[in-house]
Amino acid sequence: MQNLLKSVRIIGDPVLRQKSRPLVFPDDTPYISTLVRTMEGTLEVAEGLGLAAPQVGESVRLFIATPDYLDELNGHVVFINPEIHPYDEMEKREEGCLSVPGIYELLSRKSRVKIKAADVRGNTFSLDLGGLAARLVLHEVDHLDGILFVDKLSPIKKKLLKGKLRKMREGRRVY
Ligand SMILES: [Zn+2]
Repeated sequence: MQNLLKSVRIIGDPVLRQKSRPLVFPDDTPYISTLVRTMEGTLEVAEGLGLAAPQVGESVRLFIATPDYLDELNGHVVFINPEIHPYDEMEKREEGCLSVPGIYELLSRKSRVKIKAADVRGNTFSLDLGGLAARLVLHEVDHLDGILFVDKLSPIKKKLLKGKLRKMREGRRVY
């Protein structure tokens, strides 16, 4: 199980900065099954709320959510080729990321999001989300576009975190 955790890519890894490619059904179906199994194992060990494919080194448009969110996400755990429409008020929430370990910061984003995505079989579904589930989706979809939550912090916050982030990028332990 330990090597699953090691497979989480940390800020500084180029794969986290790429725009991921859409998955194709049915061509990618076997690849998707393997990838989802690996990611579910990784998420469980890492105790995260969500995980995007680039975080395990795969530049494809897929993310998963922890089953803890099953109610809010209407039973969905896997989101493929998501299309989102964020809306409503801006809301501040604390975010953290397995790829930016040890950093938790308040960040403003839209409080609700409509999402359309495919499941592992390629069937599309739509959800209208608020609260933590909306935040999770916005954070994970950013990963698919090469964006990390720390990119969205204020210039002052970024400046304060600069040293920590640089050490992370250089692969050193921060604490
Ligand atoms: Zn993240």
